Amino acid sequence: MAPAVVAPTATPAPFHPDRVRVLKPGSPSPSGPVVYWMFRDQRATDNWALIHAAALAARSDAPLAVAFCLSHRFLGAHARQLGFMLRGLRHLRGRLAALGLPFFLLRGDAPDALPGFLSRLGASALVADFSPLRPVRAWKDALCERLPAAVAVHEVDAHNVVPVWVASDKLEYGAKTIRPKIHRLLTEYLVEFPQLPPPAVPWTGEAPPEIDWDELIDEALREAGEVPEIGWCEPGEEAAMEALMGRKDGFLTKRLKHYDSDRNDPVKSRALSGLSPYLHFGQISAQRCALEAWKFRKSYRQSVDAFLEELIVRRELADNFCYYQPHYDSLQGAWEWARKTLMDHAADKREHIYTKEQLEKAETADPLWNASQLEMVYHGKMHGFMRMYWAKKILEWTNGPEEALSIAIYLNDKYELDGRDPSGYVGCMWSICGLHDQGWKERPVFGKIRYMNYAGCKRKFNVDGYIAYVKKLVGETKKRKSDDHSSPAVKHSKT
Ligand SMILES: Cc1cc2nc3c(=O)[nH]c(=O)nc-3n(C[C@H](O)[C@H](O)[C@H](O)COP(=O)(O)OP(=O)(O)OC[C@H]3O[C@@H](n4cnc5c(N)ncnc54)[C@H](O)[C@@H]3O)c2cc1C
Repeated sequence: MAPAVVAPTATPAPFHPDRVRVLKPGSPSPSGPVVYWMFRDQRATDNWALIHAAALAARSDAPLAVAFCLSHRFLGAHARQLGFMLRGLRHLRGRLAALGLPFFLLRGDAPDALPGFLSRLGASALVADFSPLRPVRAWKDALCERLPAAVAVHEVDAHNVVPVWVASDKLEYGAKTIRPKIHRLLTEYLVEFPQLPPPAVPWTGEAPPEIDWDELIDEALREAGEVPEIGWCEPGEEAAMEALMGRKDGFLTKRLKHYDSDRNDPVKSRALSGLSPYLHFGQISAQRCALEAWKFRKSYRQSVDAFLEELIVRRELADNFCYYQPHYDSLQGAWEWARKTLMDHAADKREHIYTKEQLEKAETADPLWNASQLEMVYHGKMHGFMRMYWAKKILEWTNGPEEALSIAIYLNDKYELDGRDPSGYVGCMWSICGLHDQGWKERPVFGKIRYMNYAGCKRKFNVDGYIAYVKKLVGETKKRKSDDHSSPAVKHSKT
């Protein structure tokens, strides 16, 4: 069982200065609006980056605006991910407007879109979300070079409970090494959010252009429609809070009890929180999830502790890896022992070899694996336990660890609604390259990497029940799709 975390502080705490890093100092006497470039934390509530940007604006008696740069299919996003994100942003715009904050949707990558925009506004500072992923870090480097000296650039870790650079200053070996560091810091960081104050200076600058959301979403769906949207997960901050706390089917309010006992049973997928899409797009704050979960600890201690272990320790360990290991998505990023054992066994004879296309179409001889692949393709979220089995089998059935890793990441990022995320890269690295794991008994193909097989799954859960569950899911999705002539796969009632 995961060790318990310390009780969070219930009274609102001020912004912790270590949550921000000054990437570029800017003018000592700033004047002009502050712009919050929102990227990874797409929410108006419980957002430390927005709170910091508002404080910065208040300090220099300046107005505040929020900007989002819509890149062209960032990390290969498909309609599934783009639709979810854009519908969430449409909600967000309304929420920001209610707070008196204008929302600008810019087209293009941040280093191309932001400098001209900031110059037009006469902005004095840019506040950015933190992401450990390479392209986002490269954008920030480029922005620091391209923006005039007078414009400050601040980066805020609004995604992690403990900012990644505070939790650890190095690449951690595993959960065992980062856990005590994070737990020690929770009294300081797992605190209630302060209220976002009304803007110190109202926005009187250029009005954000009207956005034809329907057209924008249609365009994204047309261009990237190969992987259609899913209909079971309503996007947006309100829906995210409903998923966490809703009276009807909220995870904490209705389902938490079974998390400890059932979370590794793919037949009982409702035991999981289902929060990963919201967390990935930042439509909910992990800190909010943790604060609310804590309130249920008296009744469901083991479930809450297990949930906080996944939500905080495992998730933030993934950010630690991607932040301190630039090769987070290749064999090069694995530990030396794992690389060696994998290469020692790279040429071992495999019982089956499948191509990427065969795997993508779920055309293997293993009905359990095929079901997991179909769950991902049709439902957009594979059960967490099956993700491990799924990725490990790709290692077993391809021409070596490099190919296996690249196929796993390709499929994960293409079909998972929560894909293109540090937890995805780390999940694939864990399964295929033994990351954050230990060496196990040596065997063909896997070497010392932990092995999983069909018989083991059969002992653990009702394999046939899972296959039948996915079959039903696929049937329902196909039926919905054929009933729906107007859009690729889905109707979002509230968007
Ligand atoms: C091969 C593989 C690929 C994965 N790909 C992704 C991915 O693309 N995106 C993604 O968010 N997660 C990924 N994971 C991690 C994990 O499987 C998912 O986060 C989880 O299944 C999401 O469902 P949930 O929110 O219902 O989980 P819950 O069990 O309810 O967990 C709550 C939250 O804790 C975090 N969490 C849970 N398990 C892990 C974990 N093992 N590592 C890091 N954080 C975790 C997630 O943020 C999750 O939303 C992957 C794991 C593997 C083995």
